[in-house]
Amino acid sequence: MHAKATSNDSDDGYGIDVVLQQGSDKIAPSCPHGPTLLFEKANKGEENGRRFYACSACRDRKDCNFFQWEDEKVSEARLKAREEENRSKKPPFSHSEYISRFREFVSLPLDQRRFCVDCQVLLLPRDWDEHSSHLTLSDDITVARLRRPSLLLCPLENKKSNAQYLFADRSCHFLLDMLSTLGFRKVLCVGTPRLHELIKLRNTEGTSEAMKSMLLDIDFRYSQFYGQDEFCHYNMFNHHFFGGNEPAGVFRDFLREEEGSKVVMVTDPPFGGLVKPLAHSFRQISDTWRELQANSQAEMPMVWIFPYFFEPRIVECFSSFTMLDYQVDYDNHALYKHGKTGRKQSPVRLFTNLPARDIVLPKEEGYRFCALCERYVSSGNKHCSKCNVCPSKDGREWRHCADCGKCVKPSWQHCTTCGRCALPDHPCGRGQTGCFNCGSPRHKHRACPGKLRLQPKGKAKGPGQTTRAAAGRPAKKRSRKAHRKKPSVT
Ligand code: SAH
Ligand code: ZN
Ligand code: ZN
Ligand code: ZN
Ligand code: ZN
Repeated sequence: MHAKATSNDSDDGYGIDVVLQQGSDKIAPSCPHGPTLLFEKANKGEENGRRFYACSACRDRKDCNFFQWEDEKVSEARLKAREEENRSKKPPFSHSEYISRFREFVSLPLDQRRFCVDCQVLLLPRDWDEHSSHLTLSDDITVARLRRPSLLLCPLENKKSNAQYLFADRSCHFLLDMLSTLGFRKVLCVGTPRLHELIKLRNTEGTSEAMKSMLLDIDFRYSQFYGQDEFCHYNMFNHHFFGGNEPAGVFRDFLREEEGSKVVMVTDPPFGGLVKPLAHSFRQISDTWRELQANSQAEMPMVWIFPYFFEPRIVECFSSFTMLDYQVDYDNHALYKHGKTGRKQSPVRLFTNLPARDIVLPKEEGYRFCALCERYVSSGNKHCSKCNVCPSKDGREWRHCADCGKCVKPSWQHCTTCGRCALPDHPCGRGQTGCFNCGSPRHKHRACPGKLRLQPKGKAKGPGQTTRAAAGRPAKKRSRKAHRKKPSVT
């Protein structure tokens, strides 16, 4: 059975859709990132497009160039080469090797502790020769510093598929305080290494009730610092645990709520990631959790951190989720952090199945409670009596347009030619005939030269718009309605 979205609802907006095969007897081939995903490329005039397998994690072919048509016969030789390739991409050490190296490292005197910046690895004296020409760090690698790997490791920024954007302290503390207040004692951190780190730091301070945390992340550098009981090398696009059954078992054990220790999942995926496969993985995590609990009805408590313009797609996958107004800030993201001159608006929000009214957003940052919506909202988000919601998505005060029958961004004006609200300098009268991506009237978005597409082999490559930096633009324009939600800096 195929759980496939309708064909005009392709996930990336460029006619390529993910086909999630549930209970299919077909086994997807694997790339170094685990089982690949099956994609379908829409073909004009044909009901079913051609299907192919490609990497689940990397949307840039530079990072992983796995490609195979669904019906392709793959030669023995190619299968062999593929296996070899997959083996060669494995981390140089196993997780248990990393851990024994870590123990050895902390037993060294300070002046013998080195970290290779080029290789991003803790060095033991016997490794020094091999790294002698590399940039190494040797000053004061104290236990305190080793407790903050997110500061020691350089964020994977240039690699498009897993750019790392680390929470600013303020946002990270807010998240943790909120979860702790709601009574959670275990946090499954999926792609949130800094939250994991903060939980562990707080535990050592001993000032608050201890919380357990487990990190699932594709960045295996973390296996140098965290034991097998608290870190799994994991791919959230295909729910794949690297290293076999053992880590998957540890993950399962973690979800068990022994002695009433409530567990919550917090995830902050790369913004270029496809919503559907992510949701599919989170659904599987929730299902695993449910199997272990007495209450067989419930969904696992989850917080999914993602830009606000993905709201329709996330809610489509998880109807129980609501989007909160809280703006998540990052340390190493020029766009999403506090500017020197006042607050820069971050487009990143929390999506959650936790009751919104219980999540108190900080008054100091201007959030207030709307009794009608029963949730905390941004200061600029004024309740609209006609729409009966606090309508703002971006934190600014939106305005009700009687002609459109809904609230719109303050910078928009109603255009009678187009019959909708738009920016004053919109390409007027062209409606949807021009390009959604760049605004050019000369081509449709499907043919836009300035956009990303996930391409079958042999076609022109897009610029790879999958980074978080590119998240200021939605990957998809589903409909006119969704199009209006396009974030704009104006
Ligand atoms: N704000 C978070 C980090 C978010 S950046 C924090 O401060 O903790 C996205 C995270 O997801 C990174 O840690 C990255 O390594 C991880 N990631 C990227 N692709 C992934 C994948 N396919 N599977 C699992 N984790 C992934
Ligand atoms: Zn891959
Ligand atoms: Zn309201
Ligand atoms: Zn209008
Ligand atoms: Zn117009």
